[in-house]
Amino acid sequence: MGEAHKEHVFNGRLVMIGFGCIGQGTLPLLLRHIAMRPEQVLIIKPHDSDLEAAHQAGVQTLVTALDADNLRQVLAPRLEPGDFVLNLSVDVSSLALIALARERGALYLDTCIEPWAGGYLDASLTPAQRTNYALREAALALRSPSGDAPTAVLTHGANPGLVSYFVKQALIDIAVAAGGERRAPRSREGWARLAQSLGVRVIHVAERDSQVGAQRKRAGEFVNTWSVEGFVDEGTQPAELGWGSHERHFPTDGSRHSEGSLAAIYLNRPGAATRVRTWTPLAGAQQGFLVTHTESIAIADYLTLGDRARPHYRPTVHYAYHPCDDAVLSLHELAGRNWRKQSRNRVLKDDIVSGIDELGVLLMGHARGAYWYGSRLSIEQARGLCPHNSATSLQVAAAVMAGVVWAMKNPTRDIVEPDDLPHDEMLRLCRPYLGDVVGVFSDWTPLSGRDWLFTEDLDRDDPWQFKNFRVT
Ligand code: NAD
Repeated sequence: MGEAHKEHVFNGRLVMIGFGCIGQGTLPLLLRHIAMRPEQVLIIKPHDSDLEAAHQAGVQTLVTALDADNLRQVLAPRLEPGDFVLNLSVDVSSLALIALARERGALYLDTCIEPWAGGYLDASLTPAQRTNYALREAALALRSPSGDAPTAVLTHGANPGLVSYFVKQALIDIAVAAGGERRAPRSREGWARLAQSLGVRVIHVAERDSQVGAQRKRAGEFVNTWSVEGFVDEGTQPAELGWGSHERHFPTDGSRHSEGSLAAIYLNRPGAATRVRTWTPLAGAQQGFLVTHTESIAIADYLTLGDRARPHYRPTVHYAYHPCDDAVLSLHELAGRNWRKQSRNRVLKDDIVSGIDELGVLLMGHARGAYWYGSRLSIEQARGLCPHNSATSLQVAAAVMAGVVWAMKNPTRDIVEPDDLPHDEMLRLCRPYLGDVVGVFSDWTPLSGRDWLFTEDLDRDDPWQFKNFRVT
C-alpha cells in the first residue's frame, strides 16, 4: 500500500506490550495502514521466544516482564507526548498503563481491561471484586473532569470492540426492514430509543468458532484459537450479563452491584460453567458459554433509558460463545480439575487445517424475531488477507488497527469505549478483513424445539426471558 493510501501519518513511538496471538496478527496491519517506519515500533514482552515476526518486520524489541514495581522505570523514559501505548498483553494492569500513558501525554488502546497477574484468580477478593464490572468502573473513574485528556480507547478488539459497531448496524438494518429510516441516530440516547422502539429485548454476542488443528487436544492440555491464559482467566471470573428491563425472573444465583452503572449483574459461578442457548446462521441452534466480557456491560449501559436502578428500557446483553471444539474439551477438563489450569497450553494458528469463525450479534425480540449480523471469516480467507493470523486473530487485529488509527486522528478524547466511536467509520476500516459480512433474520427463539422429552420450567408468555436461554 503506497504512503498516500495510508490512513494516518504517525511520527511518534508505538510501544506494543505483549506479542502473542493478537500482537503478532496486528503488527502487519499497523505497518500496512499507518505511515510509520518499523523502527518507530517497540515491542515489550517477557521472553525472547515468538519474536520471529517482529524481527522480520524490523521493529525494535525489549525483553522484560512488566510488573507493578518496574512499570514506571521501564516505560516512563520511553514515552513522549503523542506516543502510543498499545496493550496486547495479559497480566499487565490496564489501569496502571492508562495512568502512566496519560501522565506522559501518550495515547492508549487495549482489547481487555486486564488486572496485574493473579488478579482474576485471587480468592481473597469477593466475586463482585473479580468482575469485569469492577474493572470497567475503575477504568472509567480515571476520566478527566475536563474531558480533553489524551485518548485512551478501552476494550477495542473484536468482542469487546467490533461487536458494538455490529449492534448499531444491525439496529439500522432491522429498522429498514420494518420500513423505517436508514439514517443513524446521532446520540447515545438516540440509539437507545431506536433499540427500544424496535422492541429489541436481548442481544447475544453469538460466536461459533469451527477451526480445527492438525493435532487434536491431548490430556492435560488447554487448546484455543487465542490466548489460553486470557480465556481461562475470563472463564473463571463470575458470569456477567447486562440485565434487561423486561426480565422478570432474577436468577437464584445472581447478585446486583450497589454502585456504578448498575447495568449488569453477575452470577455466583464461573462463566465457563454457565451455558446458554443461542443461534448463528451457519451452525444454527447451539449452546454457548456465558463468559463475562466487558461489552455485555458497556452495550447494556449505552442502551439504557431512564433511571439506572429502574430503567424504562435496557436490553439483556451477554456473550454466548461456542469456542473451537478442542477448547470446549479443554473447558470440560478444566471444570473437572476444579478450575486449576492444565499444565500445557497450545494456541492454534499455523497448524489450523479448516474452519470458520462466525462472530456476530444476535438481536432478539423485535417484529422479525431474531437478526444475526456479523463476520464469517474462514482460515483460508484470513491467511490470504494478512500473514501471522487465524480467522479469530484477524477479526481482533482489524479492530485494533482501526481503533489505533481513530485514536491517532482523535488524540484528545479522554477515556472512550467502542460505543463512543463512529460505527460507520470503524466498520469501513475493519471491513476488508472480515470475510463475508452478513445479516440474517431467523424465527429461532430459545423455546424452539423445547419441552418434548422432559418437562421444562419455561416462561412461555415471553420467549425472551433469560430463564429460557439459560441451560440448567
Ligand atoms: P497471548 O497469551 O497470546 O499473548 C499475551 C502476550 O502478553 C504474550 O506475548 C506474553 O508474553 C505477554 N505478557 C505476559 N506477561 C507480560 C508482562 N508481565 N509484561 C509484558 N508482556 C507480558 O494473548 P492474546 O491472545 O494475544 O491476547 C492478548 C490480550 O488481548 C488479552 O488481554 C486478551 O484477553 C485480549 N483479547 C481480546 C480480544 C477481543 O476481541 N477484545 C480477543 C482476543 C484477545
